[in-house]
Amino acid sequence: MRVTVIGGGPAGMAAALSAKRAGAEEVLLLERAERLGGVLPQCIHTGFGVSYFKEDLTGPEFAERLERLVAKAGVEVWLNSIALQAFPDRQLLVSTRLGLRALRPDVLIFAVGARERPRGAIAIPGDRPAGVFTAGTAQYMTNIQGLQVGREFFILGSGDIGLIMARRFTLEGLIVHGVAELMPFPGGLSRNVQQCLRDYAIPLYLSHTVTGVRGKQRVEAVTVAPVDPNGYPLRDQERTYAVDSLILSVGLLPEAELLRQAGLTMAPETGGPAVDQYYQCEREGIFAVGNGVAIWDLADNVAETAEVAGRAAVLCPPGRGWARVEGRGGIRVVIPQRWRLEDRDLVLHFRAGKPTIAPRLRVTCKGQLLARRGYAALRPAEMEEIRIPAEKLAMVEAGDLVVLELEEGSGG
Ligand SMILES: Cc1cc2nc3c(=O)[nH]c(=O)nc-3n(C[C@H](O)[C@H](O)[C@H](O)COP(=O)(O)OP(=O)(O)OC[C@H]3O[C@@H](n4cnc5c(N)ncnc54)[C@H](O)[C@@H]3O)c2cc1C
Repeated sequence: MRVTVIGGGPAGMAAALSAKRAGAEEVLLLERAERLGGVLPQCIHTGFGVSYFKEDLTGPEFAERLERLVAKAGVEVWLNSIALQAFPDRQLLVSTRLGLRALRPDVLIFAVGARERPRGAIAIPGDRPAGVFTAGTAQYMTNIQGLQVGREFFILGSGDIGLIMARRFTLEGLIVHGVAELMPFPGGLSRNVQQCLRDYAIPLYLSHTVTGVRGKQRVEAVTVAPVDPNGYPLRDQERTYAVDSLILSVGLLPEAELLRQAGLTMAPETGGPAVDQYYQCEREGIFAVGNGVAIWDLADNVAETAEVAGRAAVLCPPGRGWARVEGRGGIRVVIPQRWRLEDRDLVLHFRAGKPTIAPRLRVTCKGQLLARRGYAALRPAEMEEIRIPAEKLAMVEAGDLVVLELEEGSGG
């Protein structure tokens, strides 16, 4: 069996490794950059690998560990090789150092990662001076290129990369005046809010937005205002911050272009392709893993779920059909969106639409209860899971709809 994996980040490396370990004869890993690792080399803080390697590692350390395992397992790696086009029959056009190559593997695994949303910049009125960066670009320039991107910062959006950069700038002796978040709750993980903002006394302004940017050559100031419940700025309460840089951290979106070309059905709520519990897309032999499917909280989650796909690509027996899985009533994202019928427990990953204290979650099909679980709290920034036992799933048939929702009256 020939398996080709597109993308050499943690997802691609973990998928390639597990496909090889599961017995695939040829596993080819394509990476457009000149090194493996994806985004991890620029994430120089710790917090990686705690569940996957049982050790607290930095991003580069996590990437290096995987890279060594990939090399040891005999995965073939093509660096500087970009998949330009993908077709529904698994044909692939790849630009390599030796010219264009056409491939048609038995299994194609997309592990193409995510891109940053530029949305925040477009909506801000005012000048367009230098000094406006996405958080990921600022992270790359600071940690990889060794550049100082500015001296005084304001951050729009409380996504994890922005929170991490707030701490990074502070550790460099630079000044972060605050983080404005449009929503009434943070966009990043609670641990990052604590460790990156509160521990350094950096203010987080919830239900606030940046209303203007001023400056001719370089940013000179930004204005910030609270928003009403509909998200409209209350301009009479605007405050001005004299900063030379505005950092945008308004979330990530799966890199979906190639997947669309391959004719895959996309899931609007994740921005990635619809997948089953083995991360197989709606076309036989095509899988998608990592942040290219949905934005996971941690690189550990990415590697663990990609391993499932790599193994399944080689070993998974044909299913007996699929049931659909949908989140409703307070549930914003569910993965997988399809369940391949089988006699095993099913783990559903999900995100709540808003922070909810002490909710009860239930999973039903055709009006019958499959699983129920209470949580101390659910937060949109944190992906949670629920396990449905195999014996409960026995009544689900191909074409059925499995619904995940918060019970009415539970939570607050
Ligand atoms: C800018 C940024 C900063 C981040 N910072 C942090 C952080 O500080 N801490 C944290 O826990 N998480 C961070 N994350 C999240 C982290 O990226 C993920 O947890 C993890 O790296 C996702 O792994 P992945 O393999 O799915 O994607 P990636 O790591 O993005 O890897 C995808 C790989 O696919 C390659 N690729 C894409 N398209 C093609 C193609 N057509 N052909 C060939 N190769 C291709 C890319 O070059 C890349 O190497 C960050 C994400 C981003 C985007």
